[in-house]
Amino acid sequence: MTESSTTAPIITISNVWKYFGSLPALQDVSLDIAPGERVVIIGPSGSGKSTLLRSINRLEEIDQGSIIVKGENIMSPDNDINLIRQNLGMVFQQFNLFPHKTVLENLTMAPITLRKLTREEAESRALGLLKKVGISEKANVYPAMLSGGQQQRVAIARALAMQPAIMLFDEPTSALDPEMVGEVLDVMVKLAEEGMTMVCVTHEMGFARTVADRLIFMDQGQIVEQGRPETLFTTPRHPRLRQFLNQIL
Ligand code: ADP
Ligand code: MG
Repeated sequence: MTESSTTAPIITISNVWKYFGSLPALQDVSLDIAPGERVVIIGPSGSGKSTLLRSINRLEEIDQGSIIVKGENIMSPDNDINLIRQNLGMVFQQFNLFPHKTVLENLTMAPITLRKLTREEAESRALGLLKKVGISEKANVYPAMLSGGQQQRVAIARALAMQPAIMLFDEPTSALDPEMVGEVLDVMVKLAEEGMTMVCVTHEMGFARTVADRLIFMDQGQIVEQGRPETLFTTPRHPRLRQFLNQIL
């Protein structure tokens, strides 16, 4: 990322509040993300990381503030959220593949119905993506036949099949057996190297250290500290970040 200061943000989050009942899950969160930037969000359980990520594609409706994605206000009644969502690929902790569809069908459904690709175009794109995530040979099997790591790689490929401008990852390796974490992180590193704009919630500090342009620490619904990963790891300023790092490192 070299042009962040001169390029308009691809995501602008301004003074966002989100309540669940009386609980403020997001408290006045503001964040600009530059095209091609790799942002990693860390923080204790319940600090609002998932709520922030989900708010970006309006899986959660914010109560105050605004979120602009590629120039479009996601809350504006004039904008079609389904079109805005096509810019945003999302990968969850649970892989959420369609269990009754083959791997290939998982990748071709949305491009055919939403992007109006022909079946041939969609399949050719899907096969390319399966090759990229290293599971070409599984195109015709059902998700249940795959390991967790393979399923998550399919989920990443499925998100990429819509050619999103931005990828959102919410703890993509947290549900995996330890021996499968690496194969999923490898795919994410490859994406980062290709210049994908990425916002990743993860506890994988090695990934954060090598990939993140910016590390963001959230606590109690707020962005408490942010900066270069090495700076936050070596000289954390806020006591709550210091305490968090002591617990996980
Ligand atoms: P994190 O991802 O950092 O663990 P979350 O964004 O999931 O945190 O949650 C932030 C806070 O909002 C937590 O206190 C959580 O219990 C609460 N919360 C999240 N989703 C809901 C929901 N659908 N209904 C009620 N409370 C929720
Ligand atoms: Mg979460």
